[in-house]
Amino acid sequence: MPAFPEAARTATRDAQLRHNLRKATHTIRDKRDAVVAELDDWSRLRAAGKAIKDRTLRHLDHYLERLEESVTAAGGTVHWAADAAEANAIVTGLVRATGERDVVKVKSMATQEIELNEALAEAGITAYETDLAELIVQLSEDLPSHILVPAIHRNRAEIREIFRDRMAAWGVPAPDDLGDDPRALAEAARVHLRERFLRTRVAVSGANFAVADTGTLVVLESEGNGRMCLTLPRTLISVVGIEKVVPTWSDLEVFLQLLPRSSTGERMNPYTSTWTGVTPGDGPQEFHLVLLDNGRTDVLADTVGRQALRCIRCSACLNICPVYERAGGHAYGSVYPGPIGAILTPQLRGTGSAADAALPYASSLCGACYEVCPVAIDIPEVLVHLREEVAARPGHLGEKAAMGAAGWVFEGERRLGAAQRAASAARSLVPRRLPGPGAAWTDTRDIPPIPEESFRSWWRREGRHGRAETDAPAPGQVRRERPEQSEQAERSERPEQSERGEDGRR
Ligand code: SF4
Repeated sequence: MPAFPEAARTATRDAQLRHNLRKATHTIRDKRDAVVAELDDWSRLRAAGKAIKDRTLRHLDHYLERLEESVTAAGGTVHWAADAAEANAIVTGLVRATGERDVVKVKSMATQEIELNEALAEAGITAYETDLAELIVQLSEDLPSHILVPAIHRNRAEIREIFRDRMAAWGVPAPDDLGDDPRALAEAARVHLRERFLRTRVAVSGANFAVADTGTLVVLESEGNGRMCLTLPRTLISVVGIEKVVPTWSDLEVFLQLLPRSSTGERMNPYTSTWTGVTPGDGPQEFHLVLLDNGRTDVLADTVGRQALRCIRCSACLNICPVYERAGGHAYGSVYPGPIGAILTPQLRGTGSAADAALPYASSLCGACYEVCPVAIDIPEVLVHLREEVAARPGHLGEKAAMGAAGWVFEGERRLGAAQRAASAARSLVPRRLPGPGAAWTDTRDIPPIPEESFRSWWRREGRHGRAETDAPAPGQVRRERPEQSEQAERSERPEQSERGEDGRR
């Protein structure tokens, strides 16, 4: 994938994509707002979720060992994977040991992160995605573009074409007369998947949470495909990031309230499956838990960036983000798109590549992501922190020099005063548009006019004598007028403005 600026430039030209994204994200976020507003203790729940995650992360070694003990005592086997290669090798070996060549999968971000399907394919094992959106992505040889709704960039007509063209190659074909009615599409997927559920003996899942006290894993889902995968096969392999552990069921209770409301905008998701080791005669008789690090302990070592490990993958930050809504998920070049992807991916993979170094800049820093995050991850804070890291590398000399000079000026009162006087004196020379790389900034924004006199100087002259509340406007202030008067004055003074469109472009 190209770096975000280039990929986003291409994506934003796709009117159909923008339409699909806008419709889907606005629908989900409206539902989320409605169900969150029902709870008068939402802010306390949010604070509790944050506190539980922070406490668990501070003692992660303890809770992971506790989880291992509990899973082992319940008849499961725990494997530790330092990175993607190790996790893939463990899972491939476990599937091979069963003698099977097919596995069914529950939607899992961790297995996408390590590219498990590709690793299994290299070993001659086929992984079948069973989540409806993941099925669409797999059949169309596409990439997911949203954490919760991986095929959010597709509309019904496109999905019908994918089913008609590709389903037969993967199993039960779609009916010849398949239309684009959602019920018909769901039924085609149901018939296709059911046959797969009934004959596949190995399943691979992730988990939303892992309860250390009892060794219980938890998956929340909406379609029932997860329940099928977690109960019908003989062998179940769960690949789980180490940050998914929660100490107790009481802690889990908080997240079971936060997650469905923040993700699908429901009071509770339709299926919540929990399993603890193995139970003779009931469900999978062999259970393996693969605990995945893959960069997470490095994230934990960063005192600012570690808050990204609180993420419960609800996707509320994607649905509210103005950048995601226009650029879509593919532009991020990562399995974790949107605001959380912009802070998690560069921490997991480092900022060494151009694509990863661009991600912390894929944001307007508007702060909407922080407002909706159910575990209060201060995404803008981490974005700025990561930008500092990127800017500290060679190749950012101009930016560093400009910021250093600005810092030096702002630090000294006399220096700031002198700079303001100089700027006022040269105000007529300031261009409306910046030259060079700065032109990208002023293509869509006006440089604010510089006042004749700075506020500080005006205050020294007028404010201290109690005359600040006279009719005379302070520098930079606009005299209060009726809106239509302001508009008229603006139009007559700056005729070129009338040539601009709604977004300020000419
Ligand atoms: S960062 Fe917060 S809002 Fe975004 S997916 Fe994670 S938990 Fe949800």
